[in-house]
Amino acid sequence: MRRILSIVTICAGVGVWSTGVALHAQERQNKFQQLYQEHRTPTVYRTASGAPGHEYWQQRADYDMTIALDDATQRVTGEETITYHNNSPDTLSYLWVQLDQNMRAPDSDTFTTRTSSISNRMSFRGLEQLHYDFDGGFKLEHVRDAAGRDLHTVTNNTMMRVDLPEPLAPGGSYSFAITWWYNINDRIKLGGRSGYEYFEGDDNYVYTIAQFYPRMAVYNEVEGWQHKQFLGSGEFTLPFGDYRVSLTVPSDHVVAATGVLQNPEQVLTPEQLARLETARTAERPVIVVSEAEARAREPNRATTTRTWTFAAENVRDFGFATSRKFIWDALGVPFGDRIVMAMSFYPKEANPLWEQYSTRAVAHTLRVYSRYTFDYPYPVAQSIHTDNIGMEYPMICFNGRRPEADGTYSDQVKYGLISVVIHEVGHNFFPMIVNSDERQWTWMDEGLNSFLQYLTEQEWERGYPSRRGPAENIVDYMKGDRRRISPIMTNSDSVWQLGPNAYSKPTTALNILRETVMGRELFDFAFKEYARRWMFKHPTPEDFFRTMEDASAVDLDWFWRGWFYTTDTVDVSLDSVEWFQVDTKDPDLEKPFRRQQSEQRPTDISSQRNLEAIERTLVEQDESLRDFYNAYDEFAVQDLDRRDYEKYLATLDQGDRDLLRPDYHYYEMTFSNVGGLITPLILELEYEDGSTKTVRIPAEIWRRDTERVSKVFPSTQKLTRVTLDPNRETADVDLTNNVWPAHAVPTRFQLFKQSQDQENPMQRERRNRELGKETSSGQP
Ligand SMILES: [Zn+2]
Repeated sequence: MRRILSIVTICAGVGVWSTGVALHAQERQNKFQQLYQEHRTPTVYRTASGAPGHEYWQQRADYDMTIALDDATQRVTGEETITYHNNSPDTLSYLWVQLDQNMRAPDSDTFTTRTSSISNRMSFRGLEQLHYDFDGGFKLEHVRDAAGRDLHTVTNNTMMRVDLPEPLAPGGSYSFAITWWYNINDRIKLGGRSGYEYFEGDDNYVYTIAQFYPRMAVYNEVEGWQHKQFLGSGEFTLPFGDYRVSLTVPSDHVVAATGVLQNPEQVLTPEQLARLETARTAERPVIVVSEAEARAREPNRATTTRTWTFAAENVRDFGFATSRKFIWDALGVPFGDRIVMAMSFYPKEANPLWEQYSTRAVAHTLRVYSRYTFDYPYPVAQSIHTDNIGMEYPMICFNGRRPEADGTYSDQVKYGLISVVIHEVGHNFFPMIVNSDERQWTWMDEGLNSFLQYLTEQEWERGYPSRRGPAENIVDYMKGDRRRISPIMTNSDSVWQLGPNAYSKPTTALNILRETVMGRELFDFAFKEYARRWMFKHPTPEDFFRTMEDASAVDLDWFWRGWFYTTDTVDVSLDSVEWFQVDTKDPDLEKPFRRQQSEQRPTDISSQRNLEAIERTLVEQDESLRDFYNAYDEFAVQDLDRRDYEKYLATLDQGDRDLLRPDYHYYEMTFSNVGGLITPLILELEYEDGSTKTVRIPAEIWRRDTERVSKVFPSTQKLTRVTLDPNRETADVDLTNNVWPAHAVPTRFQLFKQSQDQENPMQRERRNRELGKETSSGQP
């Protein structure tokens, strides 16, 4: 503790500020600099508030497709007519079409640019990939105009330019047709979001097929054509449109696809139709195609085909799944007077887990996400079983997690399934409806979606083991090797560790915004406003950043800058806590206090030793050397001291006199920002009487000095303990500098004897000899 020597009126000495200090201060303020350089100038298409502007436009592409699956050769063939609507103010002389399957061509850049090396220990799968020779690229047979004339095209890897015979004027539409086929990849051996899984036990396939047809690229006022090549990580950027798709498959297959089945009477039995109708108003999922029915189909091979027709309005893509192994269940989820059908399709291998959880997780997701955004606008949402992936398309997604063959499963498998269903169904909201540019910004769909996934999981079950969301879950990544960490605002294909970068870190950032920076009320309103504004449109990162500020009156530029544009970490250190009390000037209090301080001051080592080493000092030997000062007690209280004190008090008014009370304690705390990321300060103060108080200080405390700040906390109680970030809400990567007074936290470590498990060569040789004896002992 220190006594404040006197209370004086503060008069700042501004004139002594040197140029060097001023410059340094300016550099430090960059973390609070507004994002004018980083953010595009607002336009008539996108406003400064983050909303679509009054001249916002977007292109549209409608598809009419006839698709056939060959179950014997695992091939898809298709004929599609694309009608492209030019809503832009620009005249277009060519169109760009995405040929995503070309990523699977043997000479694709995905494989030629993939780095590789040989190590002492390699997996069979790893070695097999070095021998990659599967030809999964598109085989285009025709690209023709509406009159059947061939169009001139140029293919550059995964992008195809279609040169228009006449330029397409603003407001015009153009129809053209593409005929194609490709070999479906074995998803288990070769990987991929789309493909087939072969089930050896019953010699059947489950097909989960997507990005399987030539798709229009997005043209907009931000990127022009978004035709950045598909390398595998950066997902898809697609315009909205209406789809009508006929899928021809073996007649014993069950098909699920984006959209609403148009000819149920032709492909379903009357019984299945009746079950589907029951499911609309049921309380629990209703089985439409049972496991017994699926099992009965498995050994047979239909020789005929059947065509399932689907229609979908205002979607950005189309995916489907087909198999004779499919079990199918369904449950209606009401939204106002609409009923959305939540459905699941899975083989027997997925049970008993899937029939219990999949469809209910779909329904739960639709309800919770709708509350945070807008009512789910599509008529169906479907979850399709895969072994281990998770991938999303409009109204349909492919989800992994499978129980053991004996029907048991671990809790990781159970929660893994519920989480992946929530996540992939949740993608209907981001990016299927709030249609961001995935090729460029993974975080805009994965981050926003993983954040809502976290909120949805926590409503499934108290204590749900969410992987992403709580701030402490991102700490290991953020304090990791900086060479491998990119800012969130990095292109999807250039990121190391895409999971933590584009999923977990933005999830945590948004949760910190919601819980710590903005508060739930302001955050939830602004987040919903963003979703509402950009529903069925193409937002950019700025549109999100600006809307969150626009709807909340919270300046978040410092937050976006730190969390999205840098790799800084949150690490605040509570450097010191200093204890002050006012010098009351009351001699009866102050002089004994000083005496105590003086007596407690440690004597130095020489003085201690001299007590014995110097038998007698000169003054001790000769009394005549003593005078007034040898007997003077500076801490003795004199009457004159008391009189002076009374006089001093008389000069003060009652308010000033109250401030001289001896029971006020002042604690000056100094904090330094070690990690660099700006963060609010949350402090838990614990007092001598055991009471605690939480103080929440907004991040703006750092606005003048982003490296070091101090703050004084007055109290009438003595402080015994201070904890910074007591609820672990800021993602602080080092907790050892968060407590005062410092204290050691016990950690258990494992003790073991020298490993005895490993066999040495002599032991092995001994076993070898024993084996020889056994073999020659002539056992029949
Ligand atoms: Zn995702």
